[in-house]
Amino acid sequence: MKFTAAVLERVNAPLTLETLDMAPLQPGDVLVRIRASGLCHTDLEAIQGSLAYPLPIVLGHEGAGVVEAIGKDVSQVKVGDHVVCSWNPNCGHCFYCDRGLPILCEPFRRNQPRGLLLDGTTRMTRRGEKVHHYSVTSTHAEYTVVPESGAIPVPKEIPFDRACLIGCGVMTGIGAVVRKAKVPAGSSVAVIGCGAVGLNVIQGAVLADAAPIIAIDRDPAKLQRAGGFGATDTIDASTPDVPEKVRALTGGRGADYVFEAAGHKSSFRLSVEAVRPGGEVTWLGKVNVDEEVAFRWGTLMGEKRIVRSSYGGAVPRRDFPWIAREYLEGRVKLDELITRRIALHEINDGFAALARGEGIRTVVELA
Ligand SMILES: [Zn+2]
Ligand SMILES: [Zn+2]
Repeated sequence: MKFTAAVLERVNAPLTLETLDMAPLQPGDVLVRIRASGLCHTDLEAIQGSLAYPLPIVLGHEGAGVVEAIGKDVSQVKVGDHVVCSWNPNCGHCFYCDRGLPILCEPFRRNQPRGLLLDGTTRMTRRGEKVHHYSVTSTHAEYTVVPESGAIPVPKEIPFDRACLIGCGVMTGIGAVVRKAKVPAGSSVAVIGCGAVGLNVIQGAVLADAAPIIAIDRDPAKLQRAGGFGATDTIDASTPDVPEKVRALTGGRGADYVFEAAGHKSSFRLSVEAVRPGGEVTWLGKVNVDEEVAFRWGTLMGEKRIVRSSYGGAVPRRDFPWIAREYLEGRVKLDELITRRIALHEINDGFAALARGEGIRTVVELA
C-alpha cells in the first residue's frame, strides 16, 4: 500500500512529505492508521544529528491511531482498536525482559538504533529504496507498522490528540514518579526543568500525593505553568543558592526525591545537591553521550541513590490505559499540554518552534 510520510533525508535538512510503499504485514505486525503524532525533543535530536540514525528515516514516536489490519499470530489488538504506539516494544522473553526491564530488551536495543523493526527488517520503501523506522514507531505518517507489543489499546473515549501524548512525554514523567521511584505519599519532591516531561513529573507527584512539590526552572512562564500542574512552590533556577532554597522548603534537609528533566550539566549537578541524605535522584534528561558531567564528590555522599530512566519504568500495556483513565476521570491534565495543532505539511514549522523552545507540545493531526 502507498501512504504519505514525513521523511528525514539528511541531517539538518527539512523533512519532506513523500509517498512511500508499505510491505505486506508479517506475523506479529500491526498496521496503524495514525490520527495524531506529537513532536518530541528526541525527534529534533535526530534531525539535528546529535542522535545518529540511518537515513532516510520516518521520525515520530508519540502517536495514536486506529488499528487498520493485523498480521498472523496477533492476539492482543484487533482491527478498529484505538491504540497509542509504544516506542519500547519488546520481545517479552530475553534476558532483560525476564528481569522486568523491557526498556533494555535485547532485540529492541539491537535493532532500534539501526532503524529496524524488532525482527531486524523494515517495511517501508520509497521507489524500491529502504526507508528506516524511527524507534520502531515512525508516527509522523499516515500509516505505520509496529510490532504487536508496540500497539497499546486505550479507551475510545480519549481523543487521539491527547492519547498520543501518553506514548512518550506523559509516560516518562508520570512513570518516573509512580512506577520508577514509587514516591510514597507525603514525600517532598523537587523537579528541575518544567518542559513537557517536567510538567508530567509534577502530575505524577500530585497523583502520588507528594508535598511539597517544588518546581525549578529559569523560565518564569514555565514556572507559572508548573503551578497550574500542581507545583506547590517554585524556584527561579537563575538565582543563586538554589539548593539552599530547596532545603528551606524541606525542613533544612533537601528533597526526599529529585527529578532532573532539563538535560543540562548544571541541572544534573543541582539534582544531587538538592536531594537530602538518603534521598533518591532520578535523571530523565540527557546531554550528548560523549559529554562529561562533573560533580563535587561531597554532594554524592550521604547514602544518596541515583537512577537514570528513559521511559519512566513504563510497562505500556499496563500503564497507557491507566493514564488514559486518569485523564478521563480528571486526575491527569493532557489538554493543557497541547499548545499547538498542525497538519503534517506544517511539520518543519513545528520543529522550528520546538528548537526555539516555544510551547509545550505541538501535535500533528491527521484526518
Ligand atoms: Zn519522546
Ligand atoms: Zn526482550
